[in-house]
Amino acid sequence: MKVAKFGGSSLASSQQVKKVVEIIKADPQRRFIVVSAPGKRDSKDTKVTDLLIQLYQTKIAAGDLDPIIQQIFTRYQEIGEAFSVNDDTLTAIQYNLNSFKELPVVDNPHLYDTILASGEDNNAKLIAGILQTQGIAARYINPKELGLLVSDEPGNARILRNAYDLISRWSQSQEVLVIPGFFGYTEAGKICTFSRGGSDITGSIVAAGVKADLYENFTDVDGIYSAHPGYVHQPELIKELTYREMRELAYAGFSVFHDEALMPSYRAHIPVVIKNTNNPTAPGTKIINTRERHEKPVIGIASDEGFTMIYINKYLMNREVGFTRRILTIFEEFGLGYEHMPSGIDDISIVLRANQLTPETEEKLLQAIADEIKPDELRITHDLSMIMVVGEGMRQRVGITAESTAALARKKINLEMINQGSSEVSIMFGIHKEQEKSAIRALYYTFFD
Ligand code: ASP
Repeated sequence: MKVAKFGGSSLASSQQVKKVVEIIKADPQRRFIVVSAPGKRDSKDTKVTDLLIQLYQTKIAAGDLDPIIQQIFTRYQEIGEAFSVNDDTLTAIQYNLNSFKELPVVDNPHLYDTILASGEDNNAKLIAGILQTQGIAARYINPKELGLLVSDEPGNARILRNAYDLISRWSQSQEVLVIPGFFGYTEAGKICTFSRGGSDITGSIVAAGVKADLYENFTDVDGIYSAHPGYVHQPELIKELTYREMRELAYAGFSVFHDEALMPSYRAHIPVVIKNTNNPTAPGTKIINTRERHEKPVIGIASDEGFTMIYINKYLMNREVGFTRRILTIFEEFGLGYEHMPSGIDDISIVLRANQLTPETEEKLLQAIADEIKPDELRITHDLSMIMVVGEGMRQRVGITAESTAALARKKINLEMINQGSSEVSIMFGIHKEQEKSAIRALYYTFFD
């Protein structure tokens, strides 16, 4: 049995929903359907979730809610009417949107989540109604009934352990269950959403709960490419990759999936496949726990910009007990997280996300390091990009680092940092942002045809 999750672009219009209906009809194993809220129909359009944020803001500002409610309702209406869905379904959606007018603003920490969650909740009702018009025994199920219990952290909920057992009770359901993504209920019965894009998380949780054979994540791309198609002309599509490889690629900017989404299916050993609603017969990209054979040492090359590096050098640094701890304490006091920390005998570099620093905190931080550590040299480098060369097969092949650095050297790309993770699943290069594209290309053509 399969869990199929459909993203916002797959449900943005009646044309898109038609494709989704065909996909569900084509395979009776698709028994658990997780839906996002309707997304953008074209690049200028607004996602229903973003319209709901506007609704919330209008409510807080005590503005007139009717126009925005109408705008949101029209999105569902257009889709529902194309399938001549039962009137009650659309009435229920309209009623729900209007009920927001009555919700209290004061002392209501779950207001924002309640409004946002309605995007998926109403869509699940609609899609269930649509599937019924197509003769499918489908029904909407609320996350509370399902057992999707989450922590009481508005906007950033986490699944509670006992939720999986509760969800497993539904594994034998004879009906096709249509489940809204993105939110769950606290033990006190309040709605809490996951972070943005969190319908992927719901899909993964449901797959783990009902012990599905496969979690299908339908989106608008054919799968994951071995390099960014904007950087490399027609990069290869990855057929199969491990969770660890996916994690490394996602870290460096491959953001097909919500970061946290893979955790539940990974733990439950359930493979995930990323598929395209607009091209459903294409095999997609499969994410699995372990891969037996590695045809190629490198599976993908990713990159992300926006890093800053602080370099600290002090003669005989390695003799000073507690040196690293003192540096990290300073970072902690400034509330700064770091990403990497390559070190040498007398020096250490700390790489962090640049968006954490303002020019002011940067100056104070450097001053604090200078005062506390008394380094011989202290430098800060801005505008760095991290390039990740990823592949489980690298462990079994000698010379990947050498081939990579040679390729970068041929393009006269200066390496600010090299870091081979202890896992040996990736090698990371820190370079200047302007050279990012050319570095990706050089590495791609070294490891792929
Ligand atoms: N609709 C939510 C968002 O836009 C969740 C999702 O689509 O996954 O963030």
